[in-house]
Amino acid sequence: MIYLDYQATTPLAPEAREAMLPWLSGPEAMGFANPHSPHRPGRAAAAAIEVAREQVAALLPPGGRVVFTGSATEAINLAILGRKPRQAAVSAIEHAAVLDTAAASGARVRTLAADGEGIVAVQPLDPGTDLVAVMQVNNEIGTIQPVAAWAEAAHAAGALFLCDAVQGAGKLAAPEGADLVALSAHKLYGPKGVGALWIREGVDLAPLIHGGGQEAGLRSGTLSPALIAGFGAAAALARVRMAEDAAQVERLWSLACSLLPDWTLNGSAERRWHGNLNLRREGLDVARLMSDCRDLAFSAGSACASGSGRPSHVLRAIGLADSDAKSSVRLGFGRYTTEKDIEDACARIEAAATAQRY
Ligand code: PLP
Repeated sequence: MIYLDYQATTPLAPEAREAMLPWLSGPEAMGFANPHSPHRPGRAAAAAIEVAREQVAALLPPGGRVVFTGSATEAINLAILGRKPRQAAVSAIEHAAVLDTAAASGARVRTLAADGEGIVAVQPLDPGTDLVAVMQVNNEIGTIQPVAAWAEAAHAAGALFLCDAVQGAGKLAAPEGADLVALSAHKLYGPKGVGALWIREGVDLAPLIHGGGQEAGLRSGTLSPALIAGFGAAAALARVRMAEDAAQVERLWSLACSLLPDWTLNGSAERRWHGNLNLRREGLDVARLMSDCRDLAFSAGSACASGSGRPSHVLRAIGLADSDAKSSVRLGFGRYTTEKDIEDACARIEAAATAQRY
């Protein structure tokens, strides 16, 4: 099996797994202790959480704090619903975590259009806009958004700027100027089930989850030292390996593009994270392709929309006809992908797609 679905989730880095193990240990070692308990094992677990908080914060600008959540989806819900916006502006290519939460918030929501290259250029904001959300890197087509310019535009309009940095964190520099940034461990080689919201100093949010008052009252519930230690280790590793990981992805990108010359790229080639190759081929039956390539783990359009039968909202937002959107596939690769993986996968995909024509 060749894994080419790095936007859906990344493999757990061995270093992150190692960092988790002490907090999953049996009764003797007491790694299981509640990090909110005042006794010694509890304090040790709490200390590990604070180390991880620093490691995650190091991916973000100074002048803010990291609140751990159960996922980036929860972080985004906290950012939007905890702010209770009256008028929000959100990009058309946001993840459902942003789109659906903004819709559920009761705010008036304006959609910011993307161009044919998959870029959401800065646009005038309606008077009264109090929250703007534009993601750093799109999860379906990998396009990198002008988030620093959006932060400036939001502030000029008197709004806060929320950046979903799930696909960019640990790969690119932190989104400049954002007030709220959402991250997910499992997209940067950490474990599933833990995310974070970075909150700029001075930005107030109301909690969504009430109870024991953990995370300074903003997110009640016992934290998981194992998941958080894994998140921290993955973040630290991503920071150290950022240039190396990017160079690896560049090599794989060039190789894959050279092996699939008859496919059309969805979204900009240049303003893009090159670990995302979203391609289409006219008339391609993607379901048949996926069934013919069962030993490749890749995605049709977006992992979230896969299987729904609905064309992706992102591909539609960049102007693709439904038929083109439905004949698109997403290959995602990263740190642990080899050149041989790319060669084998591209050969199989190419052969299966070509066979559909006869
Ligand atoms: N935002 C983006 C851009 C994503 O790709 C995802 C996951 O697919 C999420 C948010 C949600 O992240 P999580 O799985 O941590 O809830």
